[in-house]
Amino acid sequence: MPLSPTDIEALGARAEQMVNALGTISAEPDRLVRLFLTPEHRRAADRVADWMRAAGLVVSEDALGTVRGRLTGTGPKRLLIGSHIDSVIDAGKYDGPFGVIAGILAAEHFSRSGRKLSFGLDVLAFGDEEGSRFPTTLASSSACAGAFRGETLALADRDGVTLGAAITAYGKSVEDIPAAAYAPGEAAAYVEVHIEQGPVLEVRKEPLGVVTAIIGQTYLNVAFAGEAGHAGTVPMALRRDALAGASEAVLLGESLARATQGEVVATVGRITVAPGATNVIPAQVVAIFDIRAADEAARARLAGELRDGIHAIAQRRHLGVTITSTREVATTPCHPLVQDQLAAAIRRVGGEGLRLGSGAGHDGQAMAKLCPIGMLFVRCRGGISHNPLEYADPRDLGLAVAALIEFIERFDPEKLG
Ligand SMILES: [Zn+2]
Repeated sequence: MPLSPTDIEALGARAEQMVNALGTISAEPDRLVRLFLTPEHRRAADRVADWMRAAGLVVSEDALGTVRGRLTGTGPKRLLIGSHIDSVIDAGKYDGPFGVIAGILAAEHFSRSGRKLSFGLDVLAFGDEEGSRFPTTLASSSACAGAFRGETLALADRDGVTLGAAITAYGKSVEDIPAAAYAPGEAAAYVEVHIEQGPVLEVRKEPLGVVTAIIGQTYLNVAFAGEAGHAGTVPMALRRDALAGASEAVLLGESLARATQGEVVATVGRITVAPGATNVIPAQVVAIFDIRAADEAARARLAGELRDGIHAIAQRRHLGVTITSTREVATTPCHPLVQDQLAAAIRRVGGEGLRLGSGAGHDGQAMAKLCPIGMLFVRCRGGISHNPLEYADPRDLGLAVAALIEFIERFDPEKLG
């Protein structure tokens, strides 16, 4: 039976209530801080497990603390629905938790109906998406995907606690990490509902959208070497000012990205200047370029043009320059069929089924190593995220859960092969 507007409104109200409840679980009284494998993570995981049980799911937890709520189907395949319950420092309440809550509410719809689906449903609450505690990210979803990298166990947080030690302190065993992985062929697809964290849906006046890809990323670390000198005595024509060169490079990055008409975005969010004194000509400057695009070729092209342009700037200004790529993350496409099915589900609840790329990273990047993935984005106010002002309208939350239910209703694991 299709969901009525009243059902959808009720789902939205419940989702908002649950988002608010999880939003109170924090390490600090005045802001939301919920890091991986901390007492707050434990409390949030327990709350999620309670909700899953109440929704009729069988709950378990793996070695990375991922909470799994399971509803069995008549067939062996499972549809995985997940998101994360860790947060950045001074976070918003919706980023992550809403995706877990949407999964629980949708699974509850089917467990209450008493009718068995032809596939199982697993709702997953991951604990390490933001990478706010350890210098690594997606550890929990990587473990589920069977792609956990053992070397990350040695990485330490700000207090010197390694990931391996934190897992033990959380009451888990690193030996159990391989058991967290799904068997190949068991997972039919991974679907995640998430707030957009950007302004596209709001501008287009659409509550929901289908993600085409989680876009790839290149970091270029650009180090300019000039010569320090007295700010009063060295004539302008004789200077080798590393910051002036870096400034030109920043503007070059901006103009190259602008010329792509939205295909590529480029940002310098961090610059270090040495010696860093008011009256000294800057000698050493490091600027980090963050370049993102859904299209791999477009991103590589811009990175190449930027490198060439920066070398030309350095040559003209008699500066030394070294450019190193410190991060290269490939674009993760969402499966075309899952995209179509999500778009159809959105249309069934009255939306347009608009498609958009995800500029932010998500657990789907790890889960794509296991199975086809898809993402459904929900409009958020002003596109604001990673900020306590993050907000999504409960009506939009209700529509997202309803669309997820519609998607599950018609999902056929056999079609994905
Ligand atoms: Zn998130």
